Amino acid sequence: MSEYLYKRVLLKLSGEALMGNGGCSIDPSVIERLSLQIRELVEARIEVGIVVGGGNIFRGMSGAAGGMDRAQADYMGMLATVMNALALQDALERLGCPCRVMSAIQMNEVCEPYIRRRAIRHLEQGDVVIFAAGSGNPFFTTDTAAALRACEIGADCLLKATKVDGVYDKDPCTNDDAVRFETITYHEVLVRGLRVMDATAAALCQDNSMPIIVLNIDGKDHIRRALAGEPVGTVIVQ
Ligand code: UDP
Repeated sequence: MSEYLYKRVLLKLSGEALMGNGGCSIDPSVIERLSLQIRELVEARIEVGIVVGGGNIFRGMSGAAGGMDRAQADYMGMLATVMNALALQDALERLGCPCRVMSAIQMNEVCEPYIRRRAIRHLEQGDVVIFAAGSGNPFFTTDTAAALRACEIGADCLLKATKVDGVYDKDPCTNDDAVRFETITYHEVLVRGLRVMDATAAALCQDNSMPIIVLNIDGKDHIRRALAGEPVGTVIVQ
């Protein structure tokens, strides 16, 4: 029997996760490190879907704050996620890990269109599938797109890889006595007002009983250990 608790996972990577310390928007060494972790999952026969953010390049909200039309700015944000998806695909393929990019906004010259049944087929065949361009709709985030794709492809869990190693009772950056939860319910997250994902994404996961694992992306093998059921990060359940 497999040592892993989850067979098919949806990994949400924020755009920030692709940035290095030097401030460049896409750091090849960071992407390579992430790709090595992803390849390890594929080698363990875990089916991996990825939704990548675009915040390292452009966010619709910042465009709108500067006076741009919000929908227009959001489309720019979605295009930013496609750039990140292509960078990640390149790194994975150079490591010998077959990978498809499927975009919610059609751009057939650079990637495949998102078709749910085809995405599932790719996953079954062992290809990593990167879902680009978020949900394809403005006024959403890639967290919500990740929750949506996780539900659509029948993922066993949504992994939210962040800069923090889980969900805390208060902000760990400003409170030394902050305590990390190993497990917490969606209800408690809501009642305590803990910020894990945006409200739309959290509601979608809760309505569809999709477990969320929040973990730190910087750890060498955190993703693999979390999927093996080790207490890495926080698991949010019904
Ligand atoms: N976006 C959107 N619809 C979606 C997903 C993303 O309009 O379904 C836009 C939105 O402007 C967002 C940007 O794409 O700010 C980048 O995504 P996000 O901010 O979620 O990236 P992350 O914070 O994860 O890097």
